[in-house]
Amino acid sequence: MQRLQAFKFELMPTGEQQHQMRRFAGSCRFVFNKALALQKENYEAGGKFIGYVAMAKHLTAWRNSLETFWLKDAPVHPLQHALKDLEKAYKNFFEKRADFPRFKRKGQRDSFRYPDPKQIKLDQANGRIFLPKLGWLRYRNSREALGELRNVTVSLSGGKWFVSIQTRRDVETQLPHDGAVGIDMGIARFATLSDGTFYAPLHSFKRHETALRRAQRVMSRKTKFSNNWKKAKVRVQRIHSRIGNARRDFLHKATTTISQNHAMVCIEDLQVRNMSRSAAGSSEQPGKQVRAKSGLNKAILDQGWAEFRRQLDYKPAWNGGHLIAVPPRNTSRTCPCCGHVSADNRQTQARFLCVECGFEENADVVGAINVLRAGHARLACADTSPEVRASGQEPTEATIQFSV
Ligand SMILES: [Zn+2]
Repeated sequence: MQRLQAFKFELMPTGEQQHQMRRFAGSCRFVFNKALALQKENYEAGGKFIGYVAMAKHLTAWRNSLETFWLKDAPVHPLQHALKDLEKAYKNFFEKRADFPRFKRKGQRDSFRYPDPKQIKLDQANGRIFLPKLGWLRYRNSREALGELRNVTVSLSGGKWFVSIQTRRDVETQLPHDGAVGIDMGIARFATLSDGTFYAPLHSFKRHETALRRAQRVMSRKTKFSNNWKKAKVRVQRIHSRIGNARRDFLHKATTTISQNHAMVCIEDLQVRNMSRSAAGSSEQPGKQVRAKSGLNKAILDQGWAEFRRQLDYKPAWNGGHLIAVPPRNTSRTCPCCGHVSADNRQTQARFLCVECGFEENADVVGAINVLRAGHARLACADTSPEVRASGQEPTEATIQFSV
């Protein structure tokens, strides 16, 4: 099967290249925001959604306009790609996978993508890459980028520039032999499998929490936009990216192990952005760990779940297996032994005790077993259902990232 994979390296740009990259990222952000503003305006005036082709014509006009002539300095393909990003954001919104697209701000995921491999030259032997309007850039060559080059994304994170090289290649896959598994997602335990194994909660944030707070406090004391404030800001961003790296690493290890060991992976089809909201419980059944869901912790949790889910969307396929998402229905209250459904079965967050037959087990394991059952049921009754993601046919858009 074909595998798409991203290899990420730190760039070692010259001063002039850094200056240019900042400008290009700014131009892409400008185009994204301008197109979003135009979409909104057009919608309010009763117009229809502006598709990519029509929007690209606007871009040509902006590049030729006297007011925004500086857009011509930036490479055109990344600018066009910013429009594609916006279209994708709208699509995700229309299909209820994401919130309404938001305006991008400077310093938030500054990046731009070169979508055309013909314009890129990768010289791995000498640790350098050629990008339009930037020339040859040196990068920290920590491992070989395997496969045929597809596209390149340049991004700024924690004050450093990175290049993410996406490639495509054929790989042989071995079928995992350990059968099916169900997964229950939670807070006290990040993920519990129906076979009883579990993954501890995401601690990456906690470990860096103190450092982050201190850095944020230092930053808040500086005069905004002063040199010292900028320095402090870079420190805050650096800690943020360290947290992100630790979390990504944790998630990749977990999803790789799960995908290698199980041919069928079942998971609750929760709207990820609602996950921590639902975990907070209702008024009749308040969640136990509401504090964990507030503020930053909540955001980190959401991101962790979303990323976990995203990886499970493609990794089982890489290993010849598949993912089945089941509707979340009574998975925490159904007895796997006798089938009795009752809220009373779950008297504490951690323990499951069936009021009918007395079956007792860790509540998360029970959840995972029920998810697995629902997955089996779904597979049996709807082999061709689009929700059953058969895999191995097409390369997925997802990627695995190797940090430097
Ligand atoms: Zn029972």
